[in-house]
Amino acid sequence: MAIAYVFVGLFGLVLGSFLNVCIHRLPRQESIVFPGSHCPRCHHPIRWYDNIPLLSYLILRGRCRDCRARISPLYPAVEALTGVVLVLTFQQYGLSAAFIKYALLVMLLIVLIFTDLLTRRIPHSITGLGIGLGLVLSFFIPVDDRPLAWLGRLWDIYLEGTAGSVAGAVLGALAGGGLFYLVGEAFYYLGGKQKEYLGFGDVMLMLMVGTFLGMPLTLMTILLGSLGGSVVALGMTALSSRYRNYAWPYGTFLGIAAICTCLVGGRLLDFYLRWSGIAG
Ligand SMILES: [Zn+2]
Repeated sequence: MAIAYVFVGLFGLVLGSFLNVCIHRLPRQESIVFPGSHCPRCHHPIRWYDNIPLLSYLILRGRCRDCRARISPLYPAVEALTGVVLVLTFQQYGLSAAFIKYALLVMLLIVLIFTDLLTRRIPHSITGLGIGLGLVLSFFIPVDDRPLAWLGRLWDIYLEGTAGSVAGAVLGALAGGGLFYLVGEAFYYLGGKQKEYLGFGDVMLMLMVGTFLGMPLTLMTILLGSLGGSVVALGMTALSSRYRNYAWPYGTFLGIAAICTCLVGGRLLDFYLRWSGIAG
């Protein structure tokens, strides 16, 4: 079993290398295929043996082999992060179809976390793809909608199996996109009244999260992301006046919250359902 974790981790490093390309090219609407990777300063193409995730950065000590320009430590960081998050996702879901589904979600989220952080952009090409994938996958891998199913039974609405899962994905998207406006407004007043970071990209991001996670876990994501974002924004503003007029990347916080929910949300839901007596 340990070998499976190693395999997932190494595969994650390679995928993380591809996510780096997406992160740096998609906000500028460049192709993610052509041209191949090259140094941003001397434009020399990167040799295959200098393109090994993590290892090349260490061997080259973070510099271009040709012009010695510094390579951003974000590249190896994204590779390592992708490896770690995929290993944690594998630990949670095991070798299953659900693992593939949530691995896709966390990789889409890693791209959006960094495009929003670096450029304040949440590319519709990624969120659009994600919304489509989430809806299609809800036919095959059920969304976690236990509290909603419980409410449905109270009102004699029985939507189970595939129909229940697809309805859950659609409701999750509506909750994510719709309720986001309300929480976004609250965040706007709490976070120093900067309107710039509240964009349609965030709504698309939450539509995407909704189709993958269903309504209850999407609400959990908004709650965690808003709380986390507010704590960080208020804390940093208190520490330094530099951050008073800083445009916080809300999508970055929502993305991190969605990854956390993807990893532990199901267990939190278990705990809540048992505690509230909804499920034995
Ligand atoms: Zn160079």
